[in-house]
Amino acid sequence: MDHPLDNFPIKALEEIFYYIESHQYKINKLVVVTKTHSYHLIQLLYDYGHRDFGENRYQEAKEKLIHVKVKPDFPLIAHHIGPLQSGNARHIPEIFEWVHGVGSIHALAKLAKAAKKKFELTKKKTYYLIQLNLTREETKLGGMFLEEFEEIINTKPESLIQDEGLEWKGFMTMGPSNGDLEVTKKVFRQLRMLRDKYFPLGDLSMGMSGDWKIALEEGSTILRIGTAITGNRKY
Ligand SMILES: *Cc1c(COP(=O)(O)O)cnc(C)c1O
Repeated sequence: MDHPLDNFPIKALEEIFYYIESHQYKINKLVVVTKTHSYHLIQLLYDYGHRDFGENRYQEAKEKLIHVKVKPDFPLIAHHIGPLQSGNARHIPEIFEWVHGVGSIHALAKLAKAAKKKFELTKKKTYYLIQLNLTREETKLGGMFLEEFEEIINTKPESLIQDEGLEWKGFMTMGPSNGDLEVTKKVFRQLRMLRDKYFPLGDLSMGMSGDWKIALEEGSTILRIGTAITGNRKY
């Protein structure tokens, strides 16, 4: 159960922002990851003044977001943070402004089509990040291997789509699934170096509940934080 009147999430969010400011880090976004939690939690944080929220399942996100009461002059920004599947990429732009988990060119092409449609109807852009798998784990968490990305950017950069409906904003990655913080730090540093080389002004979406401080040290510009703010998840 979520407890809508419990203001733990607000306190936790304030503490993270306080840490960021007092260490003079500059970030572009802090995405509060609300997957598995009810829309009450999103409403609580939105009413407090937060606008960036992350979800990993299209259906779940859609069902929740319609219940959130949003002021027209303060739009909620929804971030899709799981691996982007070719199968549902065509639905994603309907509700998400940002897509963090682009791990294949095939899925990206599908996303571009849907983003174009959305842009024609609403004039709203969709933004995406290329997710790299730098730990080389065979995981279901997605992301492309580095050699695949380098092959693409060196030989067919036009497949990293930039058009009026869809804008490439940078990179996303995750540390190893065993949570080893030394490896995590290396992986974050490697992502920053790749960003500096290929896309100097690009965003770095890295840092979750267990490693956001390390991510800040390594230059993260977008944090994606769930349980440290929301409490435990149901799955
Ligand atoms: C769930 C999830 C998060 C947030 O994880 P926490 O450990 O709860 O902070 C961040 N990024 C992705 C891709 C996720 O799936």
